[in-house]
Amino acid sequence: MSIPSGKKYVIIGAGIHGLSTAMHLARKLESSGRGSGDDVIVIDKKAVGAGASGIACGVVRNNYFQPAMRELMAHSVGVWESDTEAYSYHPVGYMQISHEGMHEDVLSIYEQQKAIGYESSFIEGAAECQEYMEGIFHDWRAQGITSVLHEKKGGYANNMKSLRGLLGKAEAAGVDVRGGVEVTGFVTDGGAVTAVETDQGTIGCDHVVIAVGPWVQAPWAWLDLPTTTTIASPDGGDSIERPTWIYWALQEGTLGVDPGYLVDNDGNMPPVIHIDTDAPLYDDDGELVVEGPWGIYYKPDFSFGGVQGGYMPYIVDKPAAEVAVDPYGPESPDFVVGGDFYRTWTSALSHCQKRFEGKSHLIKPEPSGGIGSFSPDSFPIFDTFSQNAYFIADSNHGYKMIGVGALVAEELLGHEQALLEPFRYSRYAEGKLHPVSNSPYPWS
Ligand SMILES: Cc1cc2nc3c(=O)[nH]c(=O)nc-3n(C[C@H](O)[C@H](O)[C@H](O)COP(=O)(O)OP(=O)(O)OC[C@H]3O[C@@H](n4cnc5c(N)ncnc54)[C@H](O)[C@@H]3O)c2cc1C
Repeated sequence: MSIPSGKKYVIIGAGIHGLSTAMHLARKLESSGRGSGDDVIVIDKKAVGAGASGIACGVVRNNYFQPAMRELMAHSVGVWESDTEAYSYHPVGYMQISHEGMHEDVLSIYEQQKAIGYESSFIEGAAECQEYMEGIFHDWRAQGITSVLHEKKGGYANNMKSLRGLLGKAEAAGVDVRGGVEVTGFVTDGGAVTAVETDQGTIGCDHVVIAVGPWVQAPWAWLDLPTTTTIASPDGGDSIERPTWIYWALQEGTLGVDPGYLVDNDGNMPPVIHIDTDAPLYDDDGELVVEGPWGIYYKPDFSFGGVQGGYMPYIVDKPAAEVAVDPYGPESPDFVVGGDFYRTWTSALSHCQKRFEGKSHLIKPEPSGGIGSFSPDSFPIFDTFSQNAYFIADSNHGYKMIGVGALVAEELLGHEQALLEPFRYSRYAEGKLHPVSNSPYPWS
C-alpha cells in the first residue's frame, strides 16, 4: 500500500512513545470533535518494537531522586495499571536496596513518595534490612546493606506484548501504523516542517512527532539543532558545554533457570530487585570480581525465559556521530554483552541469594543488551522545535514512561502540561537542572 501524500500528524517511530502518543492523540481528536485517528500516521523504518522498547528489560519503578521524574513516573504507573492485561504489566513492586552512601538520597525519595501518595516502605539499619529481606527471600545474604526502599507499586511489563497491546489500541482508534518506511529528512518552509521525506515518498504534515529513541541524533541534525549544548550554572558560575547526545551501553542478560526459581518465601512472584552496594564482589571460587561499588537488578521473567536483569551501564567512548546505532540491539556487533558481564552479573546474583551459588554456567550465552541515547544531563527532553517538530527524547528512561504519550497528545492539541514543563530544552540555558543523586546509574 502506498504511503499517503499528507496527514495532519506524522509520528516517526513505533516504540513505546510513538505508539502511546498515536493512541492518545487519536482518542483525543475524536472526543474533542477536532478530528479522528484518520489524521494520524505512525511510520517506522523497520517494525513495531524494532528499537529500545522491543529489548527493554521492562522495569517500571518510581525510584527517582528528581521530584519531576517521580511525578511523571507516578502518572505513568497509573497508565500501566489502567489495563494490566493489554500492557502485559506485572504489578509486583520494586525494591531499591542500598549501601550507606545512598542512604540519605533514598530516604529523601521515600519521604517525597509519601508526599505524593505513592505507597512504599523504608527500612533502615543493617540488621533490620537483613531481617526484612529474609522475610521475602529466606536465602538473602547481601553484605553492606543499610537501607531498603520497597515500592509497593511498579514492577515490570513484557516488552513486545505491551507494544502489541498499544498497537491494537492505536489501530482500533483509527491510526495507520506502517513498518518498512524510513524517514530520510524534512521539508521546511518558514522554519516549520511542512513534510516528512521518506524512502517511499513525501508526506505533507501540520505536525511531526519524533520518537526515534537511540536514533535521535539524525532528525536533530536535519533540523540543524545544536550538537553541543551550553549548560548555565544555577548559581551564576561558569557555564559548561556538553555534547547534546552521547550513548551508554546497557548490559543485560538472562540466567536460564525456570522463572519460578525466583519466587518469594510464600511462593509468589517477588518484587523487582535492584541492589547497589560497596561490598567487594567475589565469584563462587572466592576470586575478587569487583572491589565496589557495584549494582545489579533482576526479576523472574517468563518472556525472557529465566531470571533476567542487568549490571551497571558504561559510556560509549566515541562522539555520537561515530556510533553505529544500526544494526541495533542483539544484532549489533559492538554493543552486546559477553564473558565479563556473565561472570560479574552471576557472581552478583550469588552474592545476593544463596540459591544462585554454583549457577553461573546457566547464563544464556545469547547476545543481549543495547545502547541508549542520553541528553546533556541524562534526563528527557520533551519539547517542540522548529515550530511544529515535537521531540520525545527520553534519554533512555522511557519504557516505563508509557504515560508520556497521553501528555504529549494534549500538548499537540495546544494544552501545555505541567508534568512535562521541567523537561524543556531551555532548562540548560536557564541552569534549571534536575538534582543529581549518588546513584552509579545515569538514570536515577
Ligand atoms: C537494553 C535496554 C534495557 C532497557 N530497560 C529499560 C527498563 O527496564 N525500563 C525502562 O523504563 N526503560 C528501559 N530502557 C530504556 C527504554 O527502552 C527506552 O527509553 C524507550 O524504549 C525508548 O522508546 P522510544 O519509543 O523513544 O524509542 P524506540 O523504542 O527505540 O523506538 C524508536 C523507533 O524509531 C524507529 N526509527 C528510528 N529512526 C527512524 C527513521 N529515520 N525513520 C523511521 N523510523 C525510525 C526505529 O526503527 C524504532 O522502532 C532500556 C533500554 C535498553 C537499550
